[in-house]
Amino acid sequence: MSDKKRRIFLSEKEIPTAWYNIVPDMVNKPMPILNPGTKQPLKPEDLFPIFAEEVSRQELNQTDSWFEIPEPVRDQYKKYRSTPLVRATELEKALDTPAHIYFKNESVSPVGSHKLNSALAQAYYCKEQGITNITTETGAGQWGAALSYASKAFGLDLAVYMVRISYEQKPYRRSIMQTFGAQVIASPSMSTKAGRKVLTDTPNHSGSLGIAISEAIELALQTPNCKYTLGSVLNHVALHQTVIGLEAEKQMEIAGEYPDIIIGCFGGGSNFSGIAYPFMRHTLKKGKKTRFIAAEPSSCPKLTRGIFQYDFGDEAGYTPLLPMYTLGHNFAPANIHAGGLRYHGAGTIVSQLKKDGFLEAVDIPQLESFRAGTLFAQTEGIIPAPESCHAIASAIREANQAKEEGVQKTILFNLSGHGLIDMTAYDLFNQGNLVDYDLPEAVIRRSIDELEHII
Ligand SMILES: *Cc1c(COP(=O)(O)O)cnc(C)c1O
Repeated sequence: MSDKKRRIFLSEKEIPTAWYNIVPDMVNKPMPILNPGTKQPLKPEDLFPIFAEEVSRQELNQTDSWFEIPEPVRDQYKKYRSTPLVRATELEKALDTPAHIYFKNESVSPVGSHKLNSALAQAYYCKEQGITNITTETGAGQWGAALSYASKAFGLDLAVYMVRISYEQKPYRRSIMQTFGAQVIASPSMSTKAGRKVLTDTPNHSGSLGIAISEAIELALQTPNCKYTLGSVLNHVALHQTVIGLEAEKQMEIAGEYPDIIIGCFGGGSNFSGIAYPFMRHTLKKGKKTRFIAAEPSSCPKLTRGIFQYDFGDEAGYTPLLPMYTLGHNFAPANIHAGGLRYHGAGTIVSQLKKDGFLEAVDIPQLESFRAGTLFAQTEGIIPAPESCHAIASAIREANQAKEEGVQKTILFNLSGHGLIDMTAYDLFNQGNLVDYDLPEAVIRRSIDELEHII
């Protein structure tokens, strides 16, 4: 180990110049995204009223494997990329495992998470098209923070609907967005039809990503020269995030290893897809044997306990119908502190890949995730985002398994963000005031049964 670097960077020249689209390489393509009215497959033009035109085209593209990263986006990437690939030697020692554990550290971006990789791309495409205003939703505030910065970088006005529970639990993320110049509204709000309906039925509603998405789309449709942007779930978001895995691929090569296991935490799938797909292309094209693990919270287990079915991406049903693993768009997850993982569905590509057996999913209880995050902080010196703690917990399980079996495994996980603005959650954990949530099968069934009328 002594002759090996602990942290591996790439030079500016080596930063990827194109994103990787996995769809052309897939054995079974994702089923089509449908117009909820006509039930017909969507064409890019159908998405133009809501999304920037270029991302609409990227969303439905099944033929081009590579999309050039526009020069202005690459210039922005240079502010924080490449992100380091780190060998977690101290964590390995603490676990006394024969496994080699690497992590890709996306927490070094200016806003502290991987979300900026797509925010910059989406803001750029809006600007290029002459758009002046954009809207979005945010759960834990990571996407909103990233898009606020990206909007400022490309000169756009941004309105963010922030899930109310996070608005209250994470006031500093709100401050960050406001500091970058965004307008932030707690959701559900009285400013939209979708929000008013929820508040009329449930005045103390703590909000959900699904509701916030409905509000942001509604505002975008009503505002001239305005588009909506989404930070996860959709294919074009996963596409932009592949810069993570493409860098990691080169960095692992420099480290002289190829991962046996690749892990990402899973909300809507963007950081998982970003780290996984560039490696998965070697599985699809060359039969490389790599295990891919999506780590989701036990209280929002769409991949492990949801069903594969057409569903809406939002609560009010404004989005197209997506073929995906889902807990039902009315599913209300427990108020866990990994806000970015409280989403009912998964991306369509990742769902098809899961259905075809190319990835595994595990669900991690809240307390196990914070125990893992604390060990990581104490060994590697980085306090991880509560979301990222799920990937760490999964990596620890695999490292312990390798120890039990006495085999050397190379594990790579994505550290999607740092937790320095999530210390309220760590406080509650340290005081013994966090709990695990049981999620009875009947609750999942009830929410899934409501989907029967959809298609
Ligand atoms: C948003 C977020 C996630 C979850 O979203 P994905 O699209 O599944 O990646 C995970 N980690 C962090 C730090 C986030 O901000």
